[in-house]
Amino acid sequence: MESGQRVLLVEDERNIRDVVGAYLEKEGFWVTAVGDGAAALEQANRKRFDLIVLDLNLPKVRGEEVCRRIRDVSDVPIIMLTAKGSEEERISGLEIGADDYLVKPFSPRELVARVRALMRRAHAESDPQRDRMQYGELTVDLRGHRVYLADKELDLTASEYKLLVTLARYPGRVYPRMELVEKVLGYDFEGYERAIDSHVKNLRAKLDDDPRTPRFIHTVTGVGYRFEPAETSEGTPRL
Ligand code: CA
Repeated sequence: MESGQRVLLVEDERNIRDVVGAYLEKEGFWVTAVGDGAAALEQANRKRFDLIVLDLNLPKVRGEEVCRRIRDVSDVPIIMLTAKGSEEERISGLEIGADDYLVKPFSPRELVARVRALMRRAHAESDPQRDRMQYGELTVDLRGHRVYLADKELDLTASEYKLLVTLARYPGRVYPRMELVEKVLGYDFEGYERAIDSHVKNLRAKLDDDPRTPRFIHTVTGVGYRFEPAETSEGTPRL
């Protein structure tokens, strides 16, 4: 769940497309937005997406057809957007393999919540063992996307969460800044290397982790960072 999840957003109404796209990007998703069914199929054939938000009433190729053709080759989670009061559309959408639906008008916040829930579900189904990491006082609930320090829930941003999960999955492994930028922020050019530093700084503050005597995140001078929990009796990773 943690590195640059890709969402294909298919919606012909420009206003909805722009607003929803912006919300998803703000939440840390990589968004590819297209305005008709033919473009959606082209994108879906070309790239792997972690989730598809699909309007049903689309020009060129209708949403139902897009959904059906994608389902023939992929089990990617699909959330469809349907017109208000169109019960029939909803039922047919679920029958052809959509996982969830939202009725217009909907709040972008609600959509983001559904996207997250569906991704969590898809992830949990594909790897039911990997649901929790525990390092001393630090607990990462990978299913619930929650982080606890000594049983107190931390309020992490999407980037901080991704950063923590990326590092903590392989304790002791050194992550160069550039790799963290790609994994956490999804950028791929070098100007952004330092952006990761401010996320690390904020994450450390929330973890109550002093870089001079780190108990979780260590700076590797000139390279990047590594996660290494201070020795405790219960410091064994549970992956
Ligand atoms: Ca439409």
